[in-house]
Amino acid sequence: MVKLIQFNAHDYSGYGVLEKNRIQRIEGDIFNDFTIQHANSYDPDLVTVLPPVWPSKIVAVGINYRDHAREMGHDLPDEPVLFLKPSTSVIGHGEDILYPESALRVDYEAEIAAVVKKKAYKVRVEEAAGYILGYTCLNDVTARDLQRKDGQWTRAKSFDTFCPLGPVIQTQLNPNNVRICSRLNGELRQNSNTKNFIFPLFELFSYVSHIMTLLPGDIVTTGTPSGIGEMKPGDTVEIEIEGIGILKNKVISGAG
Ligand code: MG
Repeated sequence: MVKLIQFNAHDYSGYGVLEKNRIQRIEGDIFNDFTIQHANSYDPDLVTVLPPVWPSKIVAVGINYRDHAREMGHDLPDEPVLFLKPSTSVIGHGEDILYPESALRVDYEAEIAAVVKKKAYKVRVEEAAGYILGYTCLNDVTARDLQRKDGQWTRAKSFDTFCPLGPVIQTQLNPNNVRICSRLNGELRQNSNTKNFIFPLFELFSYVSHIMTLLPGDIVTTGTPSGIGEMKPGDTVEIEIEGIGILKNKVISGAG
């Protein structure tokens, strides 16, 4: 199990590996080869965690959990319904989510996201795993009232800070059978398992790659389970995925 983390410390900015509650610096390139520098380690509580990648795009999917489809009263889709979130919506673990002045209801959505390892175009389902570096937690923050009002989802999904990502990339995981949950102010809100996917991760990845070229560091995120709900300024939201970790962010007013 390798957990890659991007961070800033007093004397270093870059990637490391989180091992036994220490971060070991790495040398090299996370998308190719790297070595762990055991001589250089950091206390995770004393570094600033950065988003695990800076994607050129985040490809997301609408309804993709059977439990969430039931909750929303939707039939199961025949094909994934895709949308994009902009690169500028990404923030890291511990950064604040800004509640837009123009929104009346802002929701959390716990999701497991795949990080693209190498350029992927028209990848077959059975080859998809080889194009994925690993998996991370993603909060697909959504201005629900604007999503309903606009019909198009771009505004609702794209505000700055609406894509918390991290804290680590887990490189060894079966993404189609892990527990996924969210907590608001410590209280459990979503609690499901990725085996409830309508379109399993490699199928979804292949499908996306037949539409657009995926680049190293791009994100393919997989939809959210049942239990979505709203957040208010002052709330703290956590996304936890078995084998990856906890992505925690606070919501603050974006006014002013
Ligand atoms: Mg979503």
